[in-house]
Amino acid sequence: MKAGRNSMACCPFHSDRHPSLKLNEDYFFCFGCGAKGDVIDFVARLFNLSSYEAAQKLAADFGLDPKPPTAAALPKPKHPCIRQFREDEMLCFRVLTDYLHLLEDWKVRYAPKTPDEPYDDRFVEACQMYCHIEYMADVLTVGDLEERVALVDELMKSGKIAFLKEYTVRKTKEVAHRGKAPENA
Ligand SMILES: [Zn+2]
Repeated sequence: MKAGRNSMACCPFHSDRHPSLKLNEDYFFCFGCGAKGDVIDFVARLFNLSSYEAAQKLAADFGLDPKPPTAAALPKPKHPCIRQFREDEMLCFRVLTDYLHLLEDWKVRYAPKTPDEPYDDRFVEACQMYCHIEYMADVLTVGDLEERVALVDELMKSGKIAFLKEYTVRKTKEVAHRGKAPENA
């Protein structure tokens, strides 16, 4: 089997034209048919074997020592994968749109009033970031599954979403505290 971008592959367990099987380090999950499990489940299902036979086949095919029987008793997947993905996706979407709203506000609130006024940092940030953030929110709204999985993966693993969430909350409070000061200045 060939895994493409983002460890997605065509699922051998249903008729799959676009890759919908996600291969992770310790489990696989199909967004199309819901097939999931560890490497032993995968081999068992693919070759129609029992779990024990699948473990033996893996041991034989990859030259592993089949003696310790505990090798077959791998831990079960830690979470129901699709629910986890949906939760992560919702979190990303909420954080991105919150930040977008903040940028929209900054674009107006901190826009220079005269041509010679120096640019406020928040106005600059709003101009620089808006399209990029809007693009990511669009991907989560209308992107295909593979794009959404890749983006959510990237945002979660890099810690960007955690940072942006904290940042947006902090900056939103700052704006609320300062009220209308810039307009009156
Ligand atoms: Zn499938």
